[in-house]
Amino acid sequence: MNAKVEYSLFDDVNKVVDDAASHMDIHPGLLEQIKLCNSIYKFSFPLKNGDGTYTVLLGYRVQHSHHKLPVKGGIRYSSFVNEEEVKGLAALMTYKCALVNIPYGGAKGGVRIDPKKYTVDQLEKITRRYTSELIKKKFIGPAIDVPAPDYGTSSREMAWIVDTFEAFNPDVINAKGCVTGKPLSQHGIEGRTEATGMGVFIGIREAVSVKEDMNALGLKVGLKGKKIIIQGLGNVGYYSAKYLSEAGARIIGIAEYNGGIWDENGIDIERIKVYQTENKTFKGYAKGQFIEDGNSLLTKPCDILIPAALENQITVQNAHDIKAKIIGEAANGPVTQEANTILLEKGIMIIPDMYLNAGGVTVSYFEWLKNLSRVSFGKLEKRYDMKKYEELLLGIEKATGDSFSEEQKRIIIKGASERDLVNSGLEETMVTAYHHMNGVRKEKGIKDLRTAGFIVALERIAISYTDLGIFP
Ligand code: GLU
Repeated sequence: MNAKVEYSLFDDVNKVVDDAASHMDIHPGLLEQIKLCNSIYKFSFPLKNGDGTYTVLLGYRVQHSHHKLPVKGGIRYSSFVNEEEVKGLAALMTYKCALVNIPYGGAKGGVRIDPKKYTVDQLEKITRRYTSELIKKKFIGPAIDVPAPDYGTSSREMAWIVDTFEAFNPDVINAKGCVTGKPLSQHGIEGRTEATGMGVFIGIREAVSVKEDMNALGLKVGLKGKKIIIQGLGNVGYYSAKYLSEAGARIIGIAEYNGGIWDENGIDIERIKVYQTENKTFKGYAKGQFIEDGNSLLTKPCDILIPAALENQITVQNAHDIKAKIIGEAANGPVTQEANTILLEKGIMIIPDMYLNAGGVTVSYFEWLKNLSRVSFGKLEKRYDMKKYEELLLGIEKATGDSFSEEQKRIIIKGASERDLVNSGLEETMVTAYHHMNGVRKEKGIKDLRTAGFIVALERIAISYTDLGIFP
């Protein structure tokens, strides 16, 4: 992966904001207020190594916009973490939440480490220390700022965060809501781990369901038979690939930082994931072809290319060679602004990150709501609904003289579980946001879905300020 420090994701995000604003009537002062990061916290803390030496680590938490509180966004552990990146990712969270209508401002955090180089004990120490640094400055709390997993972190780190927060705040009744993406045993929610990948799947499914747009790309409607290349088989890449292939798409290439795998006949996602987990590489996998330079797969012919790793992956260097018809940005910021222009000129459709990977924060929102109400979804009404539907079916059978099959009864009577409700809320959010964004794109006569997404987001954020009378 070739993320460089001198590249500024924050500047790139702001270029799109300016472009979107040029299609709107927005007060320049208000635009400036929206674009800047409200609070930036950069700190260092020491880690004692096993041999008695110390490593000083660098941490960040950036709160981009306080137009809605709490602010929300993941924490990443990566050796590429730098201020411009965290600011850009925090800004993306603001626009992402606004686009999918989730009531949060945007934030992001990070620690500049390569987590692969640390033991689990060290990672726990780092996470707990990072959390106490946030607590000291009131940069975390269920009403203030609610982190979540991101690149290099998972539910394990979130469990350490909530445990540390509770230890310092025993009197905060909603303390569990200080972080999302927690394990189920720590008051997480069903479906959060899969949520971003599930959202990517739903987003792409919606995009390829629009006949007019597919005709323009020379593609058939639907996912069946679509050839897909994915970069990154981490949490987001894996679940995206899994749901897309279950829906009939064919994953023909997977790029990883240490080599890729290529198979025109389609890669079995479950098998390759097991192999990768065991061997830490695709090298030696029995089927398909191992490709030393994984990133060379990005420029192979396919219908849909899904970068699901880091930002700054499709740049001026490789944009001209991209042969995909659709790019689905599962990662945050994988296509630079310059590359975006080249791709649009080539007639490629880009489903933007701020929309496509919003499934994660959407289900985080449900988890936070569950934590605030301290009851799991479906717990109160499930049995009540089951009885009601049972009565209804009996009534219909009596009135018509017909009877339902056992299978029909099972489907209709079954009350909604937490997972059912999470999936329903996620699908509703992703489907509504896609068609809204695509509608604005057509209405404004613009090519780019990203610009349309930013227009929707900016309109929503601007209203929060103008309704308060802060700006005209
Ligand atoms: N890290 C994820 C993102 O970039 C999820 C953030 C969250 O759930 O707060 O959208």
